[in-house]
Amino acid sequence: MSPDAGGGAATPLDAAHLEEDLAALCLPLGRRVGMPGHATARRYLRRRMEAIGLNPLPGRELEWPYRARHPQVGELCDFCNLVGVLPGQGNGRGDARHRAAPAPLLLGAHYDSVIDAPCADDNAAAVALCLAIAEEVRRAPLERDLVIALFDAEEPPFFLTPAMGSVHWWEEKRETERPAAAIILDLIGHDVEKRPGPFRDAAPAVSDLLFAIGAESHPEIRNVVEHSSVALGAPRVVLAPQRCIGDLSDYHAFRVHGVPYLFLSCGRGEHYHSESDTLEWLNLAKVRSVGRWLLHVLRLLGARTLGKTALPCDTSAAEARLLHATFGSFAEQMLAAQGLAGMQRSRDVEMLVYMLRNTYFI
Ligand SMILES: [Zn+2]
Repeated sequence: MSPDAGGGAATPLDAAHLEEDLAALCLPLGRRVGMPGHATARRYLRRRMEAIGLNPLPGRELEWPYRARHPQVGELCDFCNLVGVLPGQGNGRGDARHRAAPAPLLLGAHYDSVIDAPCADDNAAAVALCLAIAEEVRRAPLERDLVIALFDAEEPPFFLTPAMGSVHWWEEKRETERPAAAIILDLIGHDVEKRPGPFRDAAPAVSDLLFAIGAESHPEIRNVVEHSSVALGAPRVVLAPQRCIGDLSDYHAFRVHGVPYLFLSCGRGEHYHSESDTLEWLNLAKVRSVGRWLLHVLRLLGARTLGKTALPCDTSAAEARLLHATFGSFAEQMLAAQGLAGMQRSRDVEMLVYMLRNTYFI
């Protein structure tokens, strides 16, 4: 059943301005750093953050402008991250003198584009979803604070350089601004389509697939993702450990500094980094389903004890369960084709994850 089927009671995100935000961000000439569309997007995002009621972090503004060297040209360039916070409902309880507020969750996505084109999936959809989640959390707060971070300069040539928005933010933030966990979104709006390779026969039956990377950074993240992703209407979530996938987006800065994290993505589809990455490519029902599930995950994580540092854990059993839930007997067939018996051994599960990586992330 599609959660968007009309007539029923309102479900989370129905009242959010997801489509309007998405349309406003999909500028025909894109949001590339230094281009007019980038400035337009930045102004739009600040206005929307103010309208939603996101507060600047204490002693900060919503805009965090910075200068950094262009990694190719060498000149100083202007960039800007946008960061706001929604207070958690747990913060007002009890005697504040005896109880420190728990560290916030951070939900982040980059808003720059790689080329002068709409780049709807990369990454307008994720940014619009961050705003929609913020609208929802403003109405019904999490237990702990939620920081919304819209990062600049994720795309090449800035990727993994000091100019990258999330890398710079990490250096600029105060220790009190360190999140308990970071959830990063990139490429979350398209259907996983039929592609060459071993999984071609499984798609389009798995068009609602969503990859979750980083669950191995904390047992609470692993548990919440594993147990929430079998609900009706949730996307089909597959766990893929970072060691199999590498660093593909803004979670890099959090991972290397030992922050528990989760990266959600549909992988690289056929219109990745091309002019045809337009609104038409997106599946808005999927974006909403990812959003509803993510909101549920945020509410659960907001109420858990996370500490402040990663607590690496084994995810192989959870990976096997979710792979089986997603691909059914197809997963076993794939392994049998490689001469492997099944998903009993973590090595074999890992083999399957590598095959998925080679299909959807390269
Ligand atoms: Zn990109």
